[in-house]
Order: sequence, then C-alpha cells, then structure tokens
Amino acid sequence: MNVAKTYQIATIPGDGIGVEITNAAAKVLQTLASNAKHFDFDFSNFDWSSKTYLERGYYIPPGGLDELKAFDAIFFGAVGWPDVPDHISLWGLMLPLRNALCQYVNVRPTRILPGTSSPLSACKSGDLDWVIIRENSEGEYAGHGGETHTHFGNAVATDTSIYTQAGIERVMHFAFETARSRPRKKLTMVTKSNAQRHGMVLWDRIFHQVRKSYMDVDADTMLVDAMTVRMVLKPKSLDTIVATNLHGDILSDLAAALSGSIGTAPSSNLDPTRNNPSMFEPIHGSAPDIAGKGIANPIGAFWSAAELVSWIGEKDASAKLMKAIENITSQGVKTADLGGTDSTVKVTDALCAEIKRLY
Ligand code: ATP
Ligand code: MG
Repeated sequence: MNVAKTYQIATIPGDGIGVEITNAAAKVLQTLASNAKHFDFDFSNFDWSSKTYLERGYYIPPGGLDELKAFDAIFFGAVGWPDVPDHISLWGLMLPLRNALCQYVNVRPTRILPGTSSPLSACKSGDLDWVIIRENSEGEYAGHGGETHTHFGNAVATDTSIYTQAGIERVMHFAFETARSRPRKKLTMVTKSNAQRHGMVLWDRIFHQVRKSYMDVDADTMLVDAMTVRMVLKPKSLDTIVATNLHGDILSDLAAALSGSIGTAPSSNLDPTRNNPSMFEPIHGSAPDIAGKGIANPIGAFWSAAELVSWIGEKDASAKLMKAIENITSQGVKTADLGGTDSTVKVTDALCAEIKRLY
C-alpha cells in the first residue's frame, strides 16, 4: 500500500465521557484512513486530566505545550470533574491550549442531522444550517480581574473583558470569509453594545469597517438577548454568526439544543495562520452524570473529527465521513439523548461499517 502521508495527531481525552468519545473518534479516524488508503494517522495520547491534576498538581506538564506544536492537529475530549472546581480545570487545561496555540477562532456548525428532530416544531432535518464563529482568545475570557478587596465585609470581585482592535479584526475577517464561502452569503454580528459601552462598541465599529471589504455579504447586527429570541422564532433567517467568546459559547449551546442534542455538536479551535496545530472537540463537557455508562453520544466527536480531516486538507475523506454520519443517523442509529437506545460502541461500529461501505 502506498501511503503518501502520515498525519501526526495528538489526542487529549481528558475527563468523563471525553475519554469514551475520543476512543471512538480515534477508531473512526483509523477506519477512515485505512479505507481512503492514501494517508494514515499516527496518534499520540496525552493523559492530561483532572485525575492527573489531583495526583500531580498540574494539568499540563512543563514543556507540554511546546510538545504539541509538532503535531498536525489535536483531538480533544472534554475537561471538568466534580472533584476540581470548574474554573481550575478550564484554566488548567483548555484555555492555556487555545491561548498558547493561538487558536483565535472557534468554529461551531449547527445542523439538524437526518433522522433527528429539533424541539422547534417548524424545523426539520437539514434546517438550522448555521455556523457560529466564536472569538476564542480574548473578551470575557481574558482572565483579567480578581477578588480585589472587602468593602465593609462585602467581598468585591471583578472580571474585566479585554478587546483589542487586532483581535476583533482577525475574527471579523474570518467570519466574513466564512459567510462569503457559504451559499447564502449572510452574516449576523452579535454584541451587547447598548449596555457594554466600550468593548462592544469597538466590535460594532470594526464590524462596519471590515464590512466595506465584503459588500457581497448580506450582513446585519443583533444584540445578544434579541438574538436568542431570533434563534428560536426565526431560525431560518440566520446563516453565519459571529460573537464574542462568552456570547459565542452561550449561543452555541442554544444552537446545539435547537438542533436536537448537545451531543451532536462539533467545534474547531483554529489558528487560521497555520503556524500552530488546530484543535477539534465536541462542544459538550465531560458529563459526569453519564460517564462510564457507555451511552455518550459520539456524533459530536465524529463531526469534530470530520472537521479535523478537512482542516488538514483531506477534503474528500472528510466529506465521506460526514456522509457516513448522516447515513447512520437517518437509519435511526442513535443514543438516548437523541431518543434512541444504542450505545456509544454500537454507534461507532455502525459508522465504521458505513465508512467501509461508502469506499
Ligand atoms: P462544560 O462546563 O464542560 O461545558 P457542562 O457542565 O456544561 O460541561 P456537559 O458535560 O456538556 O455539561 O453536559 C450537560 C448535559 O448534557 C448533561 O446532562 C449530559 O448528560 C448531557 N450530555 C453532554 N454531552 C453528551 C453526550 N455526548 N451524549 C449524551 N448526553 C450528553
Ligand atoms: Mg457547557
């Protein structure tokens, strides 16, 4: 067999169902490569998790971030466990990865997969074809602030959002380019610039400046509160959406729920300059309530894997994987969160069989 290229993939399964869905995604990627034949994957596993944090006192060992830079891409499961406060686990593992690897864009597509249904009765499979572009490096997640002092026995704490012109411009260009590449060429920019009168106003200003280079894109703006209403009541009026780090996080959980389940939603943490590896992960967390039961929905992980395969340049294989995912959901292969009864392993095996069938 003539394998033209072996891609080096780092896997960071993390916690809870992150481990289960990462194993499933690695199996699917392996199956894809062995059927596509012209490329292969070499996986290196990194056991950075809340368990190792409790044993060692850190998530990422010294030199760990530099080690990751040598990879073609990273697949991430989930981080967070009840024994560790969420802000410790997020700042111990996920946010340092995004920051150190300059992954300043988080891309979160949403679509109702065939055979699954939306809680919105007016929407059927194929509807809700959205891409949320979440700013991934600054804003409300800048980490700036602190519990500053006590005022007459009252604790005082601040979280300062930090927005930079360069940071906003780069994500805005990415969003306009994404909108332009899609059939409807439609972009909605989300802020809260009526109440947050500095950073959000800068977002508005840069939106209007950048827009001048994309007059072929139909662009509008929304306040985030009104946006949640529009997503529920007029979902078909939306296509590409760009929002800050926090707003993008919240809107994409809403989008995932409207598409049927948080378990199907993928995300890509991209360094569009390609100076660093990008990282792919389902948007859901470690789901301690179902961890170890073998019932986690792996579709969000598989779709994230398809995004990984596309990003490294294997577009045909990525399209095949996406087609295989849609074929099995339309055949009714589904976990409990989608109303089915299948296990993670059963969905994984069905997908591997479908990949083989498509080649
Ligand atoms: P995080 O803080 O990391 O975003 P979270 O606390 O928001 O995590 P999740 O872990 O995403 O929570 O889970 C939210 C709910 O959705 C849980 O009840 C969980 O069981 C369910 N859930 C999440 N992912 C899946 C999945 N892949 N399959 C089935 N159910 C899921
Ligand atoms: Mg969450």
